[in-house]
Amino acid sequence: SDVVLRARDLKKHYNVGGGLFKSPNIVKALDGVSFELKRNKTLAVVGESGCGKSTLARLVTMIEEPTEGSLQIKDTELAGASAEARKALRPKVQIVFQNPYGSLNPRQKIGDALTEPLSMNTDLPKAEKRDRAKDMMAAVGLRPEHYDRYPHMFSGGQRQRIAIARALMLDPEILVLDEPVSALDVSIQAQVLNVLSELQEKLNLAYLFISHDLSVVKHIADDVMVMYLGKPVEKASREELFSDPRHPYTRALLSATPIPDPTREKTREVLKGELPSPINPPTGCAFHPRCPKVFDPCAGKTPLLVGPDSRKVACHLYND
Ligand code: SF4
Ligand code: MG
Repeated sequence: SDVVLRARDLKKHYNVGGGLFKSPNIVKALDGVSFELKRNKTLAVVGESGCGKSTLARLVTMIEEPTEGSLQIKDTELAGASAEARKALRPKVQIVFQNPYGSLNPRQKIGDALTEPLSMNTDLPKAEKRDRAKDMMAAVGLRPEHYDRYPHMFSGGQRQRIAIARALMLDPEILVLDEPVSALDVSIQAQVLNVLSELQEKLNLAYLFISHDLSVVKHIADDVMVMYLGKPVEKASREELFSDPRHPYTRALLSATPIPDPTREKTREVLKGELPSPINPPTGCAFHPRCPKVFDPCAGKTPLLVGPDSRKVACHLYND
């Protein structure tokens, strides 16, 4: 099937110790997330920091295990999978982080940084590793002479290209892109996003694109999932999300985003207040203390995520 990643009611809860005389608190970092990701598609996961995006990235890349729910990579269910099955899947899912400098060793030449994953996972001869590294460098727009240079000799945009090339060395099918352009100048962001789009097409990659920035998401996503305090609040195709945002949180994020679009309403719904603590999230709709549309049922009752698969929203304005 075309679906390479499937999550069903995925949860990750953490026990944060309250100390000797206090009872532990449960943080529901991820609390019931479902989605499907297909080859050659990009699902953007959007929200403020603390919404569960990074927790989701750690589960999908198998750095941590879910508390509950199902996570399927290709056709393998991870819950209860053998150590060998998990190990075999690891190369299939790679991650690119926000700060490429942090993920590159300053004393390691780019060529060695690229061939390292192959050295750790395969018995390929040196010449073949080198050839593959040069192919990947070309694919992300780097030149062969860059092979023997060190990370500090590159710009931020080039370093992010290197990180992308490195993530591709093991021939993954899924890339988790965790705020991949957030640290870059706007003029460089578009270049890196274009490289990602070309690579997706050429290599049939599926992208889980994590971002707080809707102007970036608008350039790259096929589908968007907006999260708030560990839960999805709206799911839609990119077109529908930007032309007809429904959840008040999505609308607030959009009105805070400078996207030139004459068809959009001019009414700004400004997001007030800080993201509440995930230790004691607000009752009912967790967004209610900040919501400009809050009404009777919101503080007492949790809205369900309802609607067809392609268009869901969790808000009492749409729950009846
Ligand atoms: Fe706002 Fe109520 Fe909808 Fe929550 S359920 S987003 S508080 S209107
Ligand atoms: Mg595409």
